[in-house]
Amino acid sequence: MAEETIFSKIIRQEIPTPLLYQDDLVTAFRDISPKAPTHILIIPNKLIATTNDVEEDDELTLGRMITVAKRLAIEEGISADGYRLIMNCNSHGGQEVYHIHMHLLGGKRLGPMLSV
Ligand code: 5GP
Repeated sequence: MAEETIFSKIIRQEIPTPLLYQDDLVTAFRDISPKAPTHILIIPNKLIATTNDVEEDDELTLGRMITVAKRLAIEEGISADGYRLIMNCNSHGGQEVYHIHMHLLGGKRLGPMLSV
């Protein structure tokens, strides 16, 4: 069983973070250290540590993460110009918080996908 992270406390609102969206499957809130004018995290309410731990039973939740990203992009006014969805996995992916999350980034031209 994976260890809870700060994200579980945000889902339960034990750490007061304004929520942009929450339902029975997912929660969304602004990244504490935004890398773009819009930087939102969309996370499953269920603790899944990494994308390596995703199972078939999670497919509805993972799909919901994308439909919520789409909805939030419209609300943020960035859907027409475009945006980027990112999920990092483990150390090579640059994952810092071991509760999977989708970054929704936009509000400016984001440039090349990777700087190598
Ligand atoms: P990762 O590198 O794991 O893909 O991204 C983790 C993200 O979570 C980072 O962008 C970081 O700024 C964000 N983050 C870490 N702790 C908190 C927090 O307590 N509140 C919020 N809103 N974002 C956080």
